[in-house]
This record gives sequence, C-alpha cells and structure tokens, in this order.
Amino acid sequence: MNIYRKIINLNVNLAKLKKNGTTIGFVPTMGSLHEGHLSLLKRSKKENDVTIVSLFVNPEQFNSAVDLELYPRDELKDFKMLEEHANDIVFCPDVKEMYPKKEEHFFELDGLDSVMEGKYRSGHFQGVAKIVSKFFEIIKPNNAYFGKKDFQQAVIIKYLVKKYFKKSDINIVICDTVREPDGLAMSSRNLRLNKAQRKAAVLVSQTLFKYIKKDSKLSITDIKKKVFDTINENQYLQTEYFNIVNNETLQDIESERLEHGVTACIAVYADEIRLIDNVSV
Ligand code: AMP
Repeated sequence: MNIYRKIINLNVNLAKLKKNGTTIGFVPTMGSLHEGHLSLLKRSKKENDVTIVSLFVNPEQFNSAVDLELYPRDELKDFKMLEEHANDIVFCPDVKEMYPKKEEHFFELDGLDSVMEGKYRSGHFQGVAKIVSKFFEIIKPNNAYFGKKDFQQAVIIKYLVKKYFKKSDINIVICDTVREPDGLAMSSRNLRLNKAQRKAAVLVSQTLFKYIKKDSKLSITDIKKKVFDTINENQYLQTEYFNIVNNETLQDIESERLEHGVTACIAVYADEIRLIDNVSV
C-alpha cells in the first residue's frame, strides 16, 4: 500500500496511473476505520482498478471545537486495517496541506444543507462540500463511495457533483449502512460511548426499525410522537431532530402516511455524544 501525505506526490502517481487508463475508486473518510468504511473499500475494489482511501479529520466540517478535539484518531490502526484489506493507496494529508490559506468559497446547495444536520450543525455541509471538492479536484476519481449512514451528506454530494463537477464525470456510489449485530449503525463516534451509553444507543435503530415500516397503520404525527417518546424516555438519550423527508428534496413530507421514496432521519445525543441514523421506506 502506498501512503501519501503530500498532494504533489500523490499527483505524480495518479498521472502515471491515468496515462495507462487505470480506473480510480475513491473512499473519503475521517479515519478511525470500522466495518462501515471497509464496506465502501470492498465495493470500490470490486468496481475499480485502483482504490484510494483518504484519512483526514476535516476541521471545517466541525462546528464544535470540543467535538473536533475528541474525534477518535488512530492512524497506525487504520493503516493496518487498510493493508489487511489490500487497499492500494492511502492519502492522509495534514490540515496545512489541504488548507494552505484561508478560503471563502460558498457552495450553493439548493437548501439541501439548511435542514436536519445543516440546521443543527451550522456550516457543516459547507465544510463537507469544500473538502470533498478539493479531493475530487486532486484525484478526479471515476467512482467515489459514500455511506447511506450519512444520508443527507450522500444527497448533497450527488447534488454537488451534478452542479460543480459536470464535466468530470465522477460517479457517486451510495453504500448501505453497516450495523453492529444488535442494529446500532457503526460510527467512529461509537468508540466514545461508555457501557451504559452503548446499551442505550441501540434504542435509536430499534425504534426506527419498529416504527418506520411501509405498511404502518400509524399516521406520521403518531409515528413522530412514538419515536420521540420512546427514545427520550431513556435517561441517557435526547433526540435532537427526527424528520421524515423526501429522498430528493430532503423536505418533510406532507402526506400523513409513510410512502415509498421517503427516509426517516434522526440525531440523538447519548449524553454528550451525538449519533445519527436513518431508515428508508
Ligand atoms: P466518516 O469517516 O464518518 O466521515 O465516514 C466516511 C464514509 O464512510 C462516509 O461516506 C460515511 O457515510 C461512511 N460510513 C460511516 N459509517 C458507515 C456505516 N456504518 N455504514 C456504511 N458507511 C458508513
């Protein structure tokens, strides 16, 4: 596995690969890898000649300095996992390499960034759009892989590519959420959960699975109430938002019944640790 920390060195290798017509799959991550990330890597390996995984904790997408500081990092462990899964190239630049100077670029994201995560994490998706655009400009992958775990992010990246990378022909592939055996969506932040919080956290996915069903007899109003009440009754958990949205517009659906083409998205605090999950109908 080749490890690059500098854009220029990565570029030299990429130029060689592209000259030979090699197809490139790209998996952007913030490290602290788990089976969810590996599922993206496995898919990319199947569909491309060469896969590049990036490890970069992007400060621009954090709106809390504490969250950024406490974000788990373990580069050596990540390298080992990537080696074991036969990854080809890892790109792990430092912050200066990616942001050598202050830039004020505003991405127009058609309001997709102002609901849910965008509403509660101000500037988050501007930060995501900024780093993903930089990676896309450097790597120009044929395919880039994202997890449905971050549903809103996946929708926004698709929009970003359609609007800002029209000529690059980058194909965005969205991969299913990988879960722990009890249903908890895998996340690097799960490492921060203590035993009691971890036990409570499973209630998030369990509640979504229980109430988000195509044939549900409950109205949307009742589903929302049940989900909020079930989760918030747990002493460790507090729901930040629970929205049932159209898969394309990310706007709350107007219908009173669950229908095809909608996704229920939730953010819950387990004490100070923020977890997100979603289930589609
Ligand atoms: P992160 O390191 O959290 O920024 O995630 C990097 C990529 O992995 C993003 O596209 C995530 O959506 C994806 N990802 C994170 N957790 C999971 C999971 N449990 N299942 C599938 N993909 C995931």
